[in-house]
Amino acid sequence: MYWEKEIETMPVSELKALQLQRLQHTLLRALTSPYYRRMYQAEGVSADDVRTLADVQRLPFTTKQDLRNGYPYEFLTVAKEEVVRLHSSSGTTGQATVIFHTAHDIADWANLIARCMYMTGARKSDVFQNMSGYGMFTGGLGFHYGAEKLGVLTVPAGSGNSKRQIQFMKDFSTTIIHAIPSYALHLFSVFAELGMEPKRDLHLKIGYLGAEPYTEHTRRRVEEMFGVRVYNSYGLSEMYGPGVAFECPEQNGMHIWEDCFLVEVINPQTLEPVPDGEEGELVLTALSREAMPLIRYRTRDLTMILPGECPCGRTHKRIARIKGRSDDMFIVKGVNVFPMQVEAVLMGIPEVGTNYQIVLETQDFMDVMTVKVEMRGEVFTGDVKGLQTLQHRITTALKSELLFTPHVTLVEPGSFPEAQGKAVRVIDHRMRNEE
Ligand code: ADP
Ligand code: ZN
Repeated sequence: MYWEKEIETMPVSELKALQLQRLQHTLLRALTSPYYRRMYQAEGVSADDVRTLADVQRLPFTTKQDLRNGYPYEFLTVAKEEVVRLHSSSGTTGQATVIFHTAHDIADWANLIARCMYMTGARKSDVFQNMSGYGMFTGGLGFHYGAEKLGVLTVPAGSGNSKRQIQFMKDFSTTIIHAIPSYALHLFSVFAELGMEPKRDLHLKIGYLGAEPYTEHTRRRVEEMFGVRVYNSYGLSEMYGPGVAFECPEQNGMHIWEDCFLVEVINPQTLEPVPDGEEGELVLTALSREAMPLIRYRTRDLTMILPGECPCGRTHKRIARIKGRSDDMFIVKGVNVFPMQVEAVLMGIPEVGTNYQIVLETQDFMDVMTVKVEMRGEVFTGDVKGLQTLQHRITTALKSELLFTPHVTLVEPGSFPEAQGKAVRVIDHRMRNEE
């Protein structure tokens, strides 16, 4: 049983008391690492400064740059002999960092994943195919240990090799899949190539999608394509990996497991807290990690706390779908753009297929944004005029979202190479101003 009712539905006041106790304990532990000891000495703060949960705001933030500065061992709070695993972040943005785990950390992490999976209906009778990359990427081993802990038959398929994935799904009657959203969309195009329909030919019922931002439209599409209910899964290597926040059957925001994480949302410019329901940067403090507890870690992920209680009865706060990383934003003609704004428009248009890319260039000293959009195969069997109308419709829809007119190029299915790992949505070829 992985319905941890006592913890998951703990009254908020008790949950807060548990958090404070764990926070104080974690601070003492963190201060045994060379990095935090130096940092806190320099800032003139100590564990004694934290008497309430709000006091956490007196402590400095930890950033990705800190992890780089302390690479590889300076955040460790245990002897190296106690460490049983390391994961390195996938390095989507800049140099990689490393995170260490004790056996206790690995067990806690598995427990969180088991909790998430059970919450969404996974049971021992299920067959779970993990299509996440194994190795350094935490989606592989992270989900794997959790699924085994729950007692589900776990197929460590890894990512890629789509025809073999589909064969596994048939042969083992897979019921639950886990993938990054861009791979799930790609996989669907392989089904189409093979003349198969997952809804008709397979036994899938649940899909976990995470590790990349995606829109509500994309979720509904994947649900429709595969005949599954899709649950959003959020995590980052610095806080284990997946299992930090996960959707419940309500599919309305992700419960962030507050027995293990202290949640803050801040304005990334002023660094002041923002109220619930307002967007900001998620800041997390690990409350139960042994090897490498991070305090006030700036995730750079943009989200908000959803106000109100969840009808499922769980008391842990919910965060909204991640809008993107603060550094995903790019500026075109003076307008701030997030790739997810483009995706939201595209996935709402039925003729649009499963992939797209944003290319930024400089022409005559001006920014030019081109959106290359993969169409569904049947679109290209129509006449040229129909294509032009469609292109115009997409351009108009993008313009009303972005407030400037991008170029739109329609491309055939399979025009983009299969991505290795997370999708690259934006290619920026623009000239940089010489400083
Ligand atoms: P990297 O920072 O190199 O990508 P990770 O593999 O640790 O390393 O990725 C964690 C990041 O992935 C998060 O900080 C977030 O930006 C993104 N992410 C994870 N889950 C989701 C999700 N469900 N929705 C949107 N973004 C996500
Ligand atoms: Zn809920």
